Amino acid sequence: MPFSFDNTYAGLPDAFFKRVAPTPVSAPVLIRLNHRLADELGIDVARLDSPEGLAILSGNQCPDGSAPLAMAYSGHQFGGFSPQLGDGRAILLGEVVGNDGIRRDIQLKGSGPTPFSRRGDGRSALGPVLREYIVSEAMAAVGVPTTRALAAVASGDHVVREGMVPGGVFTRVAQSHIRVGTFQWFAARKDDDNLRVLADYVIARHYPAAQQEENPYRALLDGVIQRQAELIAHWMQLGFIHGVMNTDNMTVSGETIDYGPCAFLDQYDPVKRFSSIDHQGRYAFGNQGPIGHWDLIRFAETLLPLLNTDEKKSIAVAEAALDAFSGLHRSALQSRFTAKIGLKGGNLDDWDMMESLLAAMAEGEADFTLVFRHLSDALETGNDDAVSRLFNQPEAIVAWLNTWRTRLHDVDHSQTRALMRRTNPVFIPRNHRIEEAIKAGNEGDFELFHRLNQVLQNPFSEQPEFSDYEAAPAPDKVVHATFCGT
Ligand code: AMP
Ligand code: MG
Repeated sequence: MPFSFDNTYAGLPDAFFKRVAPTPVSAPVLIRLNHRLADELGIDVARLDSPEGLAILSGNQCPDGSAPLAMAYSGHQFGGFSPQLGDGRAILLGEVVGNDGIRRDIQLKGSGPTPFSRRGDGRSALGPVLREYIVSEAMAAVGVPTTRALAAVASGDHVVREGMVPGGVFTRVAQSHIRVGTFQWFAARKDDDNLRVLADYVIARHYPAAQQEENPYRALLDGVIQRQAELIAHWMQLGFIHGVMNTDNMTVSGETIDYGPCAFLDQYDPVKRFSSIDHQGRYAFGNQGPIGHWDLIRFAETLLPLLNTDEKKSIAVAEAALDAFSGLHRSALQSRFTAKIGLKGGNLDDWDMMESLLAAMAEGEADFTLVFRHLSDALETGNDDAVSRLFNQPEAIVAWLNTWRTRLHDVDHSQTRALMRRTNPVFIPRNHRIEEAIKAGNEGDFELFHRLNQVLQNPFSEQPEFSDYEAAPAPDKVVHATFCGT
């Protein structure tokens, strides 16, 4: 078989999931298979890239060794708690251990109803499948911890969304699909025994060093806080807006998950949101740190029965752990953002300078990605035109550029440029490019989809043949809103 499954989640108590097999689709067509990822995972790529492989990736055949199941979880969605969520349109086939020794889930998304589907159809439209493939692989290529895309399949069936649209099945790979919401599932049911089983499982799988700590559950909490503080700063370094940071969309592994309404900034705007359902701007660009903290408070609450036998002491432990978030997140932001202007270490003066650049960018409606990329060129050529042209009032940035050059006067320019060039991508998955790839894909033409994926495999390198993919959208091509990927 293409996969050598080695399943552990399926061996957990029944309360963790419902066993359910994928529901077949009519006429599956393989759109894209991620050969490089398959290789890394030790998957037999030739076997997967075959009619047998397509049958598996579309949910039409359950591979030997799989133990298909839908995971149980709850979640706070836009601040309101839903005790009963769970995989309503995703099915975990099983786990594989990659060449790097890391265990990963292989999950189908859009593979039919499960006991958690509520009123949903268990299916996915093709558009969100293409979007998740493009964006999750682009995130991986720039080095952001993320779930991965193994395959995109057109199902040959239609799904009802706003009208009839083509359906798809996505194969997602993750270090695990365990979320803050998974802990909330047991906490909401006051099931402390299974909560402990879950915590021990997560420690063994994602935080093995915590086993050696005096209080492993505190170490687990610290670890998740640290990874999320870092992850969210990494998103922001790239101008990424997740868009739906509900607690069921926050992994405990520290990987980005759920590419429904996500988007990258074109023009810099700290209060920007794209999601059509995020009316309050809860998940706006600049609110991602505070809302990540809010989600982590919900996580800490679930751990209270494990942190100490005395509730008061548990709360004190949880608060001490949570207090670390803001400092960790701020220092990650500072070092990542000062690196964008070629300065290591993230000291406060450099951070101030960075903040005044961001203020000028917001004021001047400058393109986030282009400003930083052109800055490294300006450092080399001494010509500021390409940078200042990105601002509504080019004069506004001249003073800043002078301050920046003065600061860099004694710094080795070749190292500075190298730092900037590995911090600031040339290519991000711009919203208008994703939209055009989806539009063509919905009409059965996947050339733009493939091209976009190809460009984004080397995001930090100039690729002259694809230079039009660097550009900001023309005014009539700007995408203002994204829709939840259901
Ligand atoms: P999401 O918006 O992807 O974070 O999903 C939130 C919840 O809704 C999860 O429990 C999903 O499994 C469920 N869900 C979303 N779309 C569907 C669908 N088409 N059918 C069944 N369940 C769904
Ligand atoms: Mg989700």
